[in-house]
Amino acid sequence: VLGLKDKIILPANQYHPAMAKEENMQSKCRSRYEQHCFWQASDYKPSPEFLDVLREYEKYHRDCVQGHDLLDLNDRGSVPKNTSCKYVIWSDMDGNGNQLISLVSAFLYGLMTGRVLLMTPKAQLQYMLCEPFPFSSWLAPEGIPHASERYETPEERHSVFYEQALQNKSDGKPIVTPKHLVVMNSHWIQPDDLRFFCQGEQKLLDQIPWLYFWSNNYIAPGYYFLPNFRTKLNKWFPDRALFLHAGRYLLSPRDEIWERVLRFYYAYLDFADRRVGIQVRSWDGNYDPVISEHIMSCGWRWGLLPKLADTKSEEFRDDSGGERISVVVTSLRREYAEGIVEVFANNGTVGHETVTVLNPSSEGYQMFGQIDHDRKAISEIWLLSFTEQIISTPKSTFGYVAHGLAGRKPFVFNKFGGGEVPDPPCLESNMPGPCFINHPHNMLCPLDGPSDGIGDSFTVLPEVRHCLLQWGIGVV
Ligand code: GDP
Repeated sequence: VLGLKDKIILPANQYHPAMAKEENMQSKCRSRYEQHCFWQASDYKPSPEFLDVLREYEKYHRDCVQGHDLLDLNDRGSVPKNTSCKYVIWSDMDGNGNQLISLVSAFLYGLMTGRVLLMTPKAQLQYMLCEPFPFSSWLAPEGIPHASERYETPEERHSVFYEQALQNKSDGKPIVTPKHLVVMNSHWIQPDDLRFFCQGEQKLLDQIPWLYFWSNNYIAPGYYFLPNFRTKLNKWFPDRALFLHAGRYLLSPRDEIWERVLRFYYAYLDFADRRVGIQVRSWDGNYDPVISEHIMSCGWRWGLLPKLADTKSEEFRDDSGGERISVVVTSLRREYAEGIVEVFANNGTVGHETVTVLNPSSEGYQMFGQIDHDRKAISEIWLLSFTEQIISTPKSTFGYVAHGLAGRKPFVFNKFGGGEVPDPPCLESNMPGPCFINHPHNMLCPLDGPSDGIGDSFTVLPEVRHCLLQWGIGVV
């Protein structure tokens, strides 16, 4: 990793001359330019096709937002005259990780379907992230309802809409398309909601000017089941790193968060020969001593943490020249980091390595919607993403964002929280990106044809596979 003092680059997929002016007007958004210096070097490069799509999108976004009364248009369910503008309004649901993965999914959906991405004015994430689009804003105006407010109306639930569409089809009557619709794609999705991934439903959705995208899930792997989307994704992301490229473009933490990241990075990580990130999700807020053993067992099995020497014959020497390893432990509970500190404080290591442990915060429990708490969470996701090796908790979207942005296949705990340390304690995942939990699988798409649908989602396409040791599917 190059330190900031060595090199500041304007990354190819980020730089836009218009941005400098825009940023002066609001905040510097240092992370937009600097974060790329901290992610470990990799072969992932944005394709020229994706860069073209971004530049076109930025213009489209500006044209469809500037000079238009979006509140009035939304009220009436119409779009600016003589334009092709359509909108997708992302509404937040659940924790920071959930929000970030669904936001990236909504953005990719907008790129593929020609929809402008707007963020609900109620979203806390607006205070966490910089505005991504030059000379424009992604914030929907005050007064535009949150998806949860629209969702109450049955006709604005898309599964109901799909049913109506079906009935109309069999009656031979024309389909009446609503002007607003909530597409619900959370991980507590209903079977009918999954028809979002059918071609017929997408054709219908295409006619609706204002979609509300309400999700806590990373649904992007499911886009591959739609042939038109799949063609685009394969063109834009030949390396299949869609979360990495779209996420690194879209998600830039605001200066307050970024400063925190930098302070920790330079204090604890910059000097290290090797950086290890360990994400221990404490689901119930309690400390589990077995998980402390589980962490060590995983770290030792794959050589992520140094092996202990026989302490009786081992004397500490400050000139041993061993590897300096920095470990970032993110958890709601400080005991997990303390456990690692104790192990390496009380024992020498075979290769004379030294281990520095950083536990940036230990909030105890999840605090929905508290801005300082959320800032800590996001800064920790970014710190994790700057490490070379990541151990993560299965099914945690907090971890998903970190290894997804890093482009690193994480080591995922096996049977996490199961009351014992299993063998193997963890395995390297088969993909770096997040998983789509409760995905379409062996389902019919009646609008496409009586026997059409999505088959065995784990094998039907070369791009999509079951996430190892986790629920769901991801892109390989
Ligand atoms: P998930 O529930 O693990 O899928 O991840 P989310 O990020 O969606 O929700 C968990 C929330 O709990 C986070 O957004 C934080 O608010 C909090 N949280 C969980 N783990 C940590 C942690 O390691 N550090 C911090 N600062 N907050 C955490």
